[in-house]
Amino acid sequence: PLQSHPSGRHFLQIPGPSNVPDRILRAIDNVTIDHRGPEFGELGKAVLAGMKKIFKTESHVVIYPASGTGAWEAALVNTLSPGDHVLMAETGHFATLWKRMAERLGLHVQFMEGDWRHGVDPAAVTAVLRADTGHRFKALCVVHNETATGVVTDVHAVRKAIDACGHPALLMVDTISSLGSVDYRHDEWGVDVTVSGSQKGLMLPPGLSFNAISAKALQASETATLRRAYWDWHDMLAINPRGYFPYTPATNLLYGLHEALEMLFEEGLDNVFARHKRLAAATRAAVQAWGLDILCSDPAQYSPVLTAVVMPQGHGADAFRATVLQHFNMSLGQGLSKLSDRVFRIGHLGYFNELSLCGTLAGIEMGLSLAGVPHRQGGVQAAMTMLADTAHSSQEGQ
Ligand code: PLP
Repeated sequence: PLQSHPSGRHFLQIPGPSNVPDRILRAIDNVTIDHRGPEFGELGKAVLAGMKKIFKTESHVVIYPASGTGAWEAALVNTLSPGDHVLMAETGHFATLWKRMAERLGLHVQFMEGDWRHGVDPAAVTAVLRADTGHRFKALCVVHNETATGVVTDVHAVRKAIDACGHPALLMVDTISSLGSVDYRHDEWGVDVTVSGSQKGLMLPPGLSFNAISAKALQASETATLRRAYWDWHDMLAINPRGYFPYTPATNLLYGLHEALEMLFEEGLDNVFARHKRLAAATRAAVQAWGLDILCSDPAQYSPVLTAVVMPQGHGADAFRATVLQHFNMSLGQGLSKLSDRVFRIGHLGYFNELSLCGTLAGIEMGLSLAGVPHRQGGVQAAMTMLADTAHSSQEGQ
């Protein structure tokens, strides 16, 4: 039976919320201050400026005390009007949830079908937008890192596909599970609204979410008529320059965000991205050595954040995950909606290093044996070999 207080740290290897570093927990554990006082104003200005560097934007960033879903809604209601047509791409569970939200808000969505094993196809975007000569589509919404599948979409290529047809649609991108883990450039890639959240690459607990907003998106918000109150960018932008918020902010999470930004800048964003790529490659080396399938079909689209592993026919992912939790005190990500019980997901993001990966993979390899899942031994060894072989190059940039 599951011990109520197992010894040692729980391994939280779901693809977010990710493990929160002690440094961040210590920062959150400070007295809550007056959110209208002078000390808070400095904190507010610092975190807003830091988040611009993370999004790589000179434009506006707003911070909501909300989960990522709130920031999805903010992106739509600030820029669109009832009955507007929106193009979205079915990369997986999260793209599907965003699509359902858009429909509930009164938008007409054309959903480009996908097989949940690929990212957005820029050629398909070009085909749809080229045919839209009347510019009916007001926005294209894509998920950068589909957390349900472990597939990354090339956002820059999507931007070029829109530009190739000279189409004026806004580009909105969900980076909830990629920001701070995968290279992302809001301004350079011409993204109009980027949506993100605190509980993945930013290493914070859940509870903060973000919009980065281009000048074009801000202009669209002047005439957009979807009902909005709490999510209205303008209330935020009126007071944010002085470091304050239009309502009570999540003060302690903002202390944590301040610390998270320091940690990311100390390591250097490029080093952070390289670390994620390297640990993801070692994870895949293990999965391949076990003889199991990676859900992502295109190696160019493998996620640096998580790997979704397909179970052999006749073996349920949920029973396997329960075995790992019971014996090794580790949580792995479950398969979502149509992937339920078919895949498990290994989170390798945020505050994570070589030995946390080796422990994760060892728990999986032992769990596969205990649960009677057919596989070859040697996955952990394959990962260790790759990590040792690449150890030298991983230090060079530091
Ligand atoms: N989009 C993506 C890509 C996600 O991974 C998630 C959550 O995991 C969400 C949206 C929804 O965010 P939240 O659960 O914080 O509301």
